[in-house]
Amino acid sequence: MECIVVHYSEIGLKGRNRGFFENMLISNIRQSLKEFAPIVERLSGRIMIDYDPDDRKEIEKRLQRISGISSFSFALAAERDIEDIKSAIDRLATGKVKSFAISTFRGDKTFRHKSQEMNVMLGDYVNEKYGWKVNLTNPDRTFFVEISRKHVFIFTEKIRGPGGLPVGSSGKLVSLISGGIDSPVAAYEMFKRGCPIVFVHFHNWGTDKEVVRDKVESLVKVLSKHQPRTVLYMVPFEELQKSIIAHVPSKYRIIVYRRVMFGIAGMIARKEKALGFVTGDSVGQVASQTLENIYCIYAMAQLPVFTPIAGSNKEDIVAKAKEIGTYDISILPYSDCCSFLVDKHPETRAKLEVIEKVESPIDIEALSRNALEHTEILKF
Ligand code: ATP
Ligand code: MG
Repeated sequence: MECIVVHYSEIGLKGRNRGFFENMLISNIRQSLKEFAPIVERLSGRIMIDYDPDDRKEIEKRLQRISGISSFSFALAAERDIEDIKSAIDRLATGKVKSFAISTFRGDKTFRHKSQEMNVMLGDYVNEKYGWKVNLTNPDRTFFVEISRKHVFIFTEKIRGPGGLPVGSSGKLVSLISGGIDSPVAAYEMFKRGCPIVFVHFHNWGTDKEVVRDKVESLVKVLSKHQPRTVLYMVPFEELQKSIIAHVPSKYRIIVYRRVMFGIAGMIARKEKALGFVTGDSVGQVASQTLENIYCIYAMAQLPVFTPIAGSNKEDIVAKAKEIGTYDISILPYSDCCSFLVDKHPETRAKLEVIEKVESPIDIEALSRNALEHTEILKF
């Protein structure tokens, strides 16, 4: 019988809460594969998925996105019987191989042979039958033999998953998502820590409404594959921007734009019962991201702000964006609402008293409520 064996690492460390994390992961796997109607079962420290080999490519793609999975393998499930295990090994003993290793994991400790005995017994078998040499440090092929209380799984390849924790096992966050490269990567990093994410984007449609809309929607659609349900709030920013442009000197505008965004995102967070924000800020990357300016901007946030890529270098963020499939969308040209009438030489060492003073003539509260009333809510 063919099946998939799923490995999870961090969840294994969770002590008494382990069952909660495992159930969450199983439920996310079922949800992600629901049209394939697989049987998903917890077995001796692993999750087993029964699948139709015709669906293999698509299932592989989906499992690679499910956080909490450290790796998974397409495996043969044998009976708990040495002869049956050997014939599964025979099926996998193909191709040009000179050296091999057997790596046994005894998930069911009641199995009568210890891991080391299994390694020796099966190693002798392969060595005699195929003439391959045992090499434990750098073998051409490794046969993984995993003993559960029902079956023995045999496989030779491990496909990496994202690791981390299953989405839904941590509290909810509001992502402030632009059309750029960084904020989608930041959201992805927090999915990996188990947080479900609600997305908020501020737009000033300007002249290219459809371009901005398509872009942000496409980005959120890609990210939505990491959780069962996704909501995107599209908040109109034009009125607020007009008021900011009327009152705030251009060198401070971007800081005030971003402060106002946090005010509105806070209202959405309350409604959504979220416990924090996630942004794509990376220290020093652009003028609004000096620590002085970040201090002034985050001072407006009523909940903790998580900035998982604060310490990442641009090339690493770009590599991650390519890996998660957001990069090609992020680099499409569009006009970001933050670029409206901002200074060529923006303030890089803002002082909170100064910012609060320049924004004080603006009725932020009323304009924010009005923006929220005109917000579109999209669901994926
Ligand atoms: P990104 O690549 O994510 O756009 P960036 O390096 O270009 O980031 P900024 O444009 O200054 O930097 O934005 C910093 C962060 O502010 C973004 O990562 C995002 O979290 C938030 N942000 C910026 N513009 C918007 C927007 N229009 N709507 C929602 N959030 C935004
Ligand atoms: Mg940007």
